[in-house]
Amino acid sequence: MNRRDFFRLASMAGVGASMASLSGLARAATPAQLGTVPTNIGINGRVVVIGGGMGGATVAKYLRLWGGTGVSVTLVERETAYSSNILSNLVLNGQRTMTSLQFGYSNLATRYGVKLVKGDVVGIDQAGHSVALADGSRLPYDRLVVAPGVDFDIIPGLETAAAQAKVPHAWKAGPQTTQLRNMLLTMKDSERFVMTIPAKPYRCPPGPYERACVVADWLKKNGRPNAKVIVLDANPSITAEPLAFGNAFNVLYKGMVEYYPGVSINSIDASTMSLNTSLGNISGKVINAIPAHRAGKVIVDNALANVGGRWAGVDVLTYQSTAAPGIHVIGDASATTQPKAGHIANQEAKICADAIVRLLSGRSPDPSPLTNSACYSPITSDTASWLSAVFGYDQATGTMLPVPGATVEAPSRSTDNYKEMFKWFNTLMEDSFA
Ligand SMILES: Cc1cc2nc3c(=O)[nH]c(=O)nc-3n(C[C@H](O)[C@H](O)[C@H](O)COP(=O)(O)OP(=O)(O)OC[C@H]3O[C@@H](n4cnc5c(N)ncnc54)[C@H](O)[C@@H]3O)c2cc1C
Repeated sequence: MNRRDFFRLASMAGVGASMASLSGLARAATPAQLGTVPTNIGINGRVVVIGGGMGGATVAKYLRLWGGTGVSVTLVERETAYSSNILSNLVLNGQRTMTSLQFGYSNLATRYGVKLVKGDVVGIDQAGHSVALADGSRLPYDRLVVAPGVDFDIIPGLETAAAQAKVPHAWKAGPQTTQLRNMLLTMKDSERFVMTIPAKPYRCPPGPYERACVVADWLKKNGRPNAKVIVLDANPSITAEPLAFGNAFNVLYKGMVEYYPGVSINSIDASTMSLNTSLGNISGKVINAIPAHRAGKVIVDNALANVGGRWAGVDVLTYQSTAAPGIHVIGDASATTQPKAGHIANQEAKICADAIVRLLSGRSPDPSPLTNSACYSPITSDTASWLSAVFGYDQATGTMLPVPGATVEAPSRSTDNYKEMFKWFNTLMEDSFA
């Protein structure tokens, strides 16, 4: 889609949007009510999207916005509403609740005519072009987008549900996040909160360090100045925003946060709340162990994890799988040179939507896509830092490489950054779900 197409469609979209909002529609849309979606512009096809997270919700919306009503989009999601990981560290200090981080799917249906199916995809028939749901039903597709996010390895010692319940990772926001908050509340002064960070790649590179800061700040301000936050990092050094987190650990939370790089976790004993590590045995009142990640199960189970058996290789011009034509993989599940982040999942979704619309109409994908990522990290309950980056397509390597000079970290944490963080979050979530 060239710029002229885009602006033509965007202007059509604007008219429809105001009509839809005036009528306050909340039921399944008919073509006349679709508002922002252009009527059939000669592009036709059936697209099924698996997973309604940051990537899946966005691609479903933009396929309709840019493809028009001829592109039928069905979004299959196992949950009734999306629970945002972004800002979920603020559930730990009581600034947000999980309920406040939930986003429903009704806008995608009523504003854009996306067909919603609540269900769990258990199989992909690549030859027959259909997906199988756990309830036995099947959905046919011309193009499939898979956006299931991540699943986690099991840390030795935590094989049972009972052990996992005592040592939540809370790295998929939801009940575990609230549980970790409740565990934090039980901590007494001088007790230890031990967290582990897996080796890269994992979702949200700054996220674990941000969590350590939020927890330390809460302990400091809530009568536990002698409590400790022990951070055991499998990586050789802080993987993101080293300036902000290095300063936080060494100055702001000196004596409270103890950061250990290059640590491997052999096992965890939930009955004694202790970890067997390359540094020896370490125990904690609370253990927050974030396991190693891999692409969501549906990727691994359906022969799409062709990068180390864990991630889905893709062509970043289209996000088409390098293992299966006609199937696109976006978001955390894909193996690219970009970070596994919600903002990047949103960007990949738009490049993928644009590419599918072009492919359905016999055109080539955009040969030089750009993506950007912004990430705010709370350091205390009212200050934050940020990191932003831009990636551009590099023909020689066929990958997205950082645009020189465009990866920038905030010079210092500030209250202004903290306020901007909520604006950024609201805008991103609106772009994906509203
Ligand atoms: C604590 C924390 C903080 C974070 N902070 C930030 C941040 O500040 N900025 C940022 O950019 N990113 C942040 N992230 C990362 C961000 O949340 C992820 O990168 C992003 O959610 C990835 O999007 P996705 O669409 O790939 O997967 P997800 O958003 O996880 O969505 C996957 C969806 O697929 C569904 N699904 C999976 N399998 C199936 C199936 N078989 N059938 C049906 N449905 C299925 C799931 O239910 C889920 O809704 C954070 C992550 C964490 C854990």
